[in-house]
Amino acid sequence: MSATETLPPTNAAPHCRVCGDAFTPHPKVKDRQKLCAKPACRIAWRLEQQAQWRKRHPTYFQGRYRDLKAWRENHPAYQRQWRAQRRTASQQPLSLDDQPFAREIQSQLNRMKTGTPWQQAQKLCEIQSELNTQLHQLLARGQAAAEARYNLS
Ligand SMILES: [Zn+2]
Repeated sequence: MSATETLPPTNAAPHCRVCGDAFTPHPKVKDRQKLCAKPACRIAWRLEQQAQWRKRHPTYFQGRYRDLKAWRENHPAYQRQWRAQRRTASQQPLSLDDQPFAREIQSQLNRMKTGTPWQQAQKLCEIQSELNTQLHQLLARGQAAAEARYNLS
């Protein structure tokens, strides 16, 4: 660690370029950080940067549709096949053993309507945790199915 890193903060605290508030930069980013931590400032900054970029490159997005149209004319079956795949994938039930899980959640939700607010909140946390577990399993299976279908692996 160098001597400069142990110095007390100076009065040159950086200010957010969007809202103007002073902020403490992340130690790894230091003087390169331009924004405070507020998500709204980050979104506003990104939108502004994108608008300026489009101003500097006014023709970048022009003619894109013409290129796309030409590509699609050379690949006439692409969209039909893509839609058919999507339809098949969305209509397939994940599996029969997902249905008892859905019933269990429903019965827990029904039971939640009774009891004190504290008990209801606890029940909600249990359901949320169970949903999280199930969701992660489903996502892993969906990922595996997509990899198998589209040969991504
Ligand atoms: Zn800000």
